[in-house]
Amino acid sequence: MYRTVNNGELRKEHIGKNVLMCGWVQKSRDLGGMTFVDIRDRYGITQLVFNMDNNASLCESARQLGREDVIQIYGKVIARASVNKQILTGDIEVEVEKLTILNKSKTPPFTIEDSTDGGDELRMEYRYLDIRRNPIKNNILLRAKISSETRKYLDGAGFCEVETPYLIKSTPEGARDFIVPSRMNKNQFYALPQSPQTFKQLLMVGGIDKYYQIVKCFRDEDLRADRQPEFTQIDCEMAFVEQEDILNMFEGLIVHLLKTIKGIKLSKFPRITYEEAIKRYGTDKPDIRFDMEFVELTDLCKKNNFIVFDNAELVVGFNIKDGASFSRKEIDKLIDFSKTPQVGAKGLVYCKYNYDETIKSSVDKFFSKNDLTKWVTKCNSSPGDLILIMAGETKDVRKSLSMLRLHIAEKIGLRDPKVFAPLWVLDFPLLEWDEESQRYHAMHHPFTAPKPDDVKKLHSDPGLVKANAYDLVINGNEIGGGSIRIHNKNLQSQMFKHLGFTDKEAKEQFGFLMNAFEYGAPPHGGVAFGFDRLCAIMGGSESIRDFIAFPKNNSGRDIMLDAPSKINNEQLDELGLKKIDQNDSSRNTN
Ligand code: ASP
Repeated sequence: MYRTVNNGELRKEHIGKNVLMCGWVQKSRDLGGMTFVDIRDRYGITQLVFNMDNNASLCESARQLGREDVIQIYGKVIARASVNKQILTGDIEVEVEKLTILNKSKTPPFTIEDSTDGGDELRMEYRYLDIRRNPIKNNILLRAKISSETRKYLDGAGFCEVETPYLIKSTPEGARDFIVPSRMNKNQFYALPQSPQTFKQLLMVGGIDKYYQIVKCFRDEDLRADRQPEFTQIDCEMAFVEQEDILNMFEGLIVHLLKTIKGIKLSKFPRITYEEAIKRYGTDKPDIRFDMEFVELTDLCKKNNFIVFDNAELVVGFNIKDGASFSRKEIDKLIDFSKTPQVGAKGLVYCKYNYDETIKSSVDKFFSKNDLTKWVTKCNSSPGDLILIMAGETKDVRKSLSMLRLHIAEKIGLRDPKVFAPLWVLDFPLLEWDEESQRYHAMHHPFTAPKPDDVKKLHSDPGLVKANAYDLVINGNEIGGGSIRIHNKNLQSQMFKHLGFTDKEAKEQFGFLMNAFEYGAPPHGGVAFGFDRLCAIMGGSESIRDFIAFPKNNSGRDIMLDAPSKINNEQLDELGLKKIDQNDSSRNTN
């Protein structure tokens, strides 16, 4: 037997007990007559004490221990002279009678402490050591808990977990596929699924009316910060449901997770249409932990010879409670931020409603006191508030102002990670015009159903057609999205036509689905949640990487494995792929 207790469980009531323990050496202190060693495992840290007077040679061995050596000890639990309130085992220590070194460790390349001296790349290269650290370990444990509670909730609601294949057919819609060459079918390729979308719809046709899967998805996209080429979804689908049924069922899931895991009781989630979200927050994933809603000032701002406003399609601003206390320097910084390429604003106008009720703006030259008073009234400002305003093309201005809104909220501490503000965003447009390819793309995916009343607009006004599509947003992050699906073959082929597929292409790519729709496909709909992001948000972080056991870096590489990597020419040959000069490029270490 290796151990009778773990390193996190001993308390006062265990004093006098003999124990067998295993763990890694966190640190040791040699005080001459006594040597103290902290040993650590997944469950915690326990202090071991080696007493020179009791056993000099044992004490000598303890002095030789290095950080991260794996040891086993036998000893007696005793009361600790100086209680350590920082750790749960701080009332006791274990007086060691026998020490076995199970394995020596090299000195780790970074400290295994809550705040480590290791940089991101080094920690990823030695991920197994990083996982020994509390912050990463706790995230992995949290993730396991969230997946277990998700299963509990969905199993309890009668969902059936089904695994769908990873080797599937490549499709042109959506992001780029990861491709897997087939050895047995030369010059033919599988693709890894971007999501199990079509399979879950086929399961509905198959009569599995409530499906879920916690599943890996793969998208070969250019990696933006904090995107992973492989990520996990909680993927769900239901048959014989309307949008309302789905929203209620999955609102229930999020409520359950926050209650069981964070002890937080959420009330009914607010709902907002896509159009409203864009108008009020400039984004379809608004952070509603704080106000600062957009106020459109276009009508109040025109015809004052201020050319920027006169030429603008939209003049829009928001009110910052008590923002009048921002110094000139702070406001200048906000102006600079607004003009950064990533935000893209041409400028920023401010209007301070001072505590003494005077109003001062950066455009006083053009606007009278009376004009500014109208702004203040429209923005519902109180003395002490600050209004920030941008102007320009509607779409661009909203986007820039939305970034400024988040930036300021962050700066003044309104984005509290302990607060959870979910909302549903509804009624997304079905299609979105793509300038580059000069055609419509499905905003969600090509299987999303148009709202029944809008079907007739598909021909005349495709851009105005709304879908029964919805997103779940928490704290400004899109956590989930889904839709009611098309279940009628004719409508589905009509949809493919609008997306620029010829009949032949549609048949080649999605013939299997359209065939299935001819055998009694039930009305159905579903949703998928980004599991990594959900874990990160629940863990109070914006970074998904720390919630994935073995993540890839920003260039999509696994630094620990050094993947992707070359394969040899025999393998390439077997796959029917072109041979390469193996000495050509050196190891890619981006
Ligand atoms: N498959 C969709 C996605 O990955 C989600 C859904 O519509 O259920 O975004």
